[in-house]
Amino acid sequence: MFVDQTKIYVKGGDGGNGMVAFRREKYVPMGGPAGGDGGKGADVVFEVNEGLRTLMDFRYQRHWKAPRGEHGMSKNQHGKNAKDMIVKVPPGTVVMDAETKEVIADLVENGQRAVIAKGGRGGRGNSRFATPSNPAPELAENGEPGQERDVILELKLLADVGLVGFPSVGKSTLLSVVSSAKPKIAEYHFTTIVPNLGMVETEDNRSFVMADLPGLIEGASEGVGLGHQFLRHIERTRVIVHVIDMAAMEGRDPYEDYLTINKELEEYNLRLTERPQIIVANKMDMPEAEDNLQKFKERLEEDFPIFPISALSRKGLRELLYAIADKIEETPEFPLDHEEEETGVNRVLYKHEADPEAFYITREPDGSFVIQGEKVEKLFKMTNFQTEESVRRFARQLRGLGVDEALRAKGAKDGDTVKLLDFEFEFVD
Ligand code: GDP
Ligand code: MG
Repeated sequence: MFVDQTKIYVKGGDGGNGMVAFRREKYVPMGGPAGGDGGKGADVVFEVNEGLRTLMDFRYQRHWKAPRGEHGMSKNQHGKNAKDMIVKVPPGTVVMDAETKEVIADLVENGQRAVIAKGGRGGRGNSRFATPSNPAPELAENGEPGQERDVILELKLLADVGLVGFPSVGKSTLLSVVSSAKPKIAEYHFTTIVPNLGMVETEDNRSFVMADLPGLIEGASEGVGLGHQFLRHIERTRVIVHVIDMAAMEGRDPYEDYLTINKELEEYNLRLTERPQIIVANKMDMPEAEDNLQKFKERLEEDFPIFPISALSRKGLRELLYAIADKIEETPEFPLDHEEEETGVNRVLYKHEADPEAFYITREPDGSFVIQGEKVEKLFKMTNFQTEESVRRFARQLRGLGVDEALRAKGAKDGDTVKLLDFEFEFVD
């Protein structure tokens, strides 16, 4: 298999902070609490877009951070929830957690969606903390931090464009000068032949996969157990690019070559001749080429477009790539007769919900204690340290988690320094 693989960082938006506010009323020096809640942070949502064919976009943008929720406001106004960040991916994208290698989502169908990083909930404003015994709390929560993680995207590549032509016409050269990325080859089944395959990007940021089609076909006729994979390549191949050596070295006749290859395509019986062809007149840098091209045009019966290029001196490539990308877009698939897919495709979404360790304690050389852990750090980030009541609530939450006890067990004494993220406090026993 050829795979396009890349690692990116995703982060859901933080929730908006809750507000501490009080009603202002005439004759009432301090009214009731009126601080609104923060809005929810945006999720990072992946969505399949069938127009995409490679993961090229993710090579340029590796950080995807969703916006945070709006902060709560006075007069009990809640902050707005942030709009989810929709990230478009090609069909067949598998998303894995980079650390655990667990599959988070297997995105197959057009329009299919999966939340890859959850946004945090909004922090509660002080209205929510009012109780009969504490009717005017100076207490609000900060927004919950959005989920963040590194994920690996993996896409099995199938050829969108097939190169055909006689040996030595310049297929490999063309592929090497237009492909901006060489995909990884993983456990490839074609044992005897490794077809040339590359990812191509046009200047207007469309991308597609180009492959040496004869290479694939030869491989298929030799190898075993590659039937489905091969057929999928052929099926996906919407455009045939027929490369012709217009320099006509060694007494070759370009037009005869052209007919011979077309006859071969017909014999493969894979409906290859039903695909639109684009003719590439290569080696136009050679002196005889222009004459040969004129003669070729006179004899050509089909009205396939012809693109004169020089793969070697990189001339005429941009127009050619635009034409290929346009053709791919306007050409439907060519479903072939083959049994249902091997059951390798899993359409289920996997939930990855590691139970976050509440906290753990280590010691620094200077004797101070360091508290770390997903849960305790989240509580910390959600604490608004501006108000004493919030700080006291945080202390209670730590006690509730068993942090005090654990510190004591580790030998913490009254007055020792305890660190948590960028916060330092004294242990009071
Ligand atoms: P393939 O067998 O179709 O893959 O052909 P290759 O890409 O291996 O090219 C065969 C030969 O043609 C090599 O020596 C290339 O350097 C040469 N070649 C390819 N493209 C051009 C071109 O545009 N101009 C000239 N003059 N030679 C080229
Ligand atoms: Mg070659």
